[in-house]
Amino acid sequence: MARRYEGRGLLGFQKAFATEEACLDHLRRMRWSDGFVCPRCGHDEAWLIRTRKVMDCKKCRAKTSLTAGTIFHKTRMPLLKWYWLIYRMATDKVGTSVSEMQRLLEIRDYKTAWLMAHKVRKAMADRDARYTLAGLVELDDSFFGPPGHTPGRGSEHKSTVLCAVSLYRDDKGKEKPGFAHMRVVKDASANSIGDFLDRLGCGPETEEGRELLEAIRTDGWKSYAKAAKDKEVGHYRVVLRKPVDAGRLLPWVHRVISNAKAVIRGTHRGVSEKHLQSYLSEVCYRFNRRFWEREIFDRLISACVSTETVTYGQLVDQKSL
Ligand SMILES: [Zn+2]
Repeated sequence: MARRYEGRGLLGFQKAFATEEACLDHLRRMRWSDGFVCPRCGHDEAWLIRTRKVMDCKKCRAKTSLTAGTIFHKTRMPLLKWYWLIYRMATDKVGTSVSEMQRLLEIRDYKTAWLMAHKVRKAMADRDARYTLAGLVELDDSFFGPPGHTPGRGSEHKSTVLCAVSLYRDDKGKEKPGFAHMRVVKDASANSIGDFLDRLGCGPETEEGRELLEAIRTDGWKSYAKAAKDKEVGHYRVVLRKPVDAGRLLPWVHRVISNAKAVIRGTHRGVSEKHLQSYLSEVCYRFNRRFWEREIFDRLISACVSTETVTYGQLVDQKSL
């Protein structure tokens, strides 16, 4: 029985989560990591009614749903299939395609598998939205969309995406990447960049002890200069003489952007503008946890049980920006 799951291998995963019961027990532990407490009477002993996925308080007999308030709410899909999907999404560096998961997990229709993957992406995005970036941040914009159109700022048929990666110095004084965030924006104007900087952590709210974004490093595009001035953060401008300089002078945003493009074009064969943000959030989620490979599955389940679910209707009705 899996108490906590730490590992990377397929065989270990298969052994830990061989049955629906093993998944349910694991889910219960992740949901109530300090132990279950009845919300009605505060008693800490309860039976788990597996068939209904509820905790039955031994004292007052109140029933508490295991899945309410999580992405698994009202799902009719076995947890075993959810667990495999989440395992693949957590551990596969290039993401996992819905059609492949539909086939491997023997899920009858594509729409169901697509919705499951989007629920997991929502959990990833909600978890990363809690984090801000501090100190010095590399910042750049890029364009995502079908190939064949003119690249460059202001290009039609492409979505503008801002990418930021925070930097820190290791023991040897070498610059290293910290956290990454990507955001689909309506344009690369100073206003859009300013809003993005607010989300990253330079907003007016200065909570006690919160580390703030201090400076940005960019290619010097005028909108960055204006946004930095508006938001009162420092601005370091690198001089790009030729396109290849970008990879050398702004290496981390370029790595994250290329990774996102490879995932979207390669694994997902392109995605619509409406859903682009979720795929970018997925790429950032994995990048931000690259040092915690052994724990990444448990962390993602933990994110999935602490986020409200989303319905198919909400997903298809959402505005693209
Ligand atoms: Zn009770």
